[in-house]
Amino acid sequence: VGALSACSSERGGGTSPAPTGTTGGGGAAGALIGIAMPTKSLERWNRDGAHLVELLEKAGYKTSLQYADNKQDQQNNQVQNMINDGAKVLVIASIDGTALGPVLTAAASAGVKVIAYDRLINGSKDVDYYATFDNYKVGQLQGQFILDNADKYKGADGTINLEPFAGSPDDNNAKFFFSGAWDLVGPEVASGKFAVPSGKAPKTNEEWTTIGIQAWKSETAQSEMENRLNSFYAGKKVNIVLSPNDSLALGIEQALDGAGYKVGTDWPLVTGQDADLANVKAILDGKQSMTVWKDTRKLGEQVATMVDQLIKGETVSVNDEKTYDNGVKVVPTYLVEPEVVTKDNVQSALVDSGFYKASDLGL
Ligand code: BGC
Repeated sequence: VGALSACSSERGGGTSPAPTGTTGGGGAAGALIGIAMPTKSLERWNRDGAHLVELLEKAGYKTSLQYADNKQDQQNNQVQNMINDGAKVLVIASIDGTALGPVLTAAASAGVKVIAYDRLINGSKDVDYYATFDNYKVGQLQGQFILDNADKYKGADGTINLEPFAGSPDDNNAKFFFSGAWDLVGPEVASGKFAVPSGKAPKTNEEWTTIGIQAWKSETAQSEMENRLNSFYAGKKVNIVLSPNDSLALGIEQALDGAGYKVGTDWPLVTGQDADLANVKAILDGKQSMTVWKDTRKLGEQVATMVDQLIKGETVSVNDEKTYDNGVKVVPTYLVEPEVVTKDNVQSALVDSGFYKASDLGL
């Protein structure tokens, strides 16, 4: 294995390293693989990127890893540079999954294969494969957790006040997370078991964008939760918050703190996703009830295998060829299973598996 180059930058064009060494036609070892990640501001994408680089380099590939500060224009420039630099396969976790068309056309005409990573890329025929966690299942795990535990959080007068949140409207995954959860929770809102004092309860799954938090920002979720508590909760307590992921849960938990909610007395059930470090700590502190853990190491391993199969011209392994229609084609997909983590299995799921060290979590 020759010199391997990895480059990580949030900046725009021109920052990817020129590939060194030769990459023979038809996919030789040492080929350059471009990895485009959305942002460094969320913990998981840093882990995802670093892990992919490690796996691909171990397999003898060169990599160019770029982060795009949550700006699709910036990511498009980065991807174009990867194509110019001779990348043979692109692994892309998009920001706005509808806005990559032209750059993917360029990839296809240069013979570059594209794997959509975690998030589907929509409206383009030039997406070859998709690898992700089962996004609908993520929502179902959150919804089922709410149904199973709701009674423990009931107010003294028997009411259960629930506030739902959804993810970024431009993220195709957010629709699946919400649908999975709302298919279980929505009927209980309709039946009156759960009240939604803010009135921000979508009537159908398709209305999820009305409660979507742009760019998955903690601060936006925090101010939205503060607004709901200030405007609709005079003399009331919120008992359950459906949060689609950990970054929103963090902001929601800050709003609850600010409003004087206390663990052990009136702190509500709060859901999440990603097992980010701060949120796992919040789980241990009783401020978050669960997170849906997506072992990003498994996704990375699967994608590294798919890259290798593509380069070697082998059959690419997928396990779902019907769910992920991007509007132009059904993209062959590999789905990895997500898993619920609560206080009870932080040790067995996250520490024993080596995802976190006990010392990271103060255990
Ligand atoms: C990912 C989640 C993540 C969210 C915000 C989604 O597309 O699947 O794991 O929490 O984006 O970055």
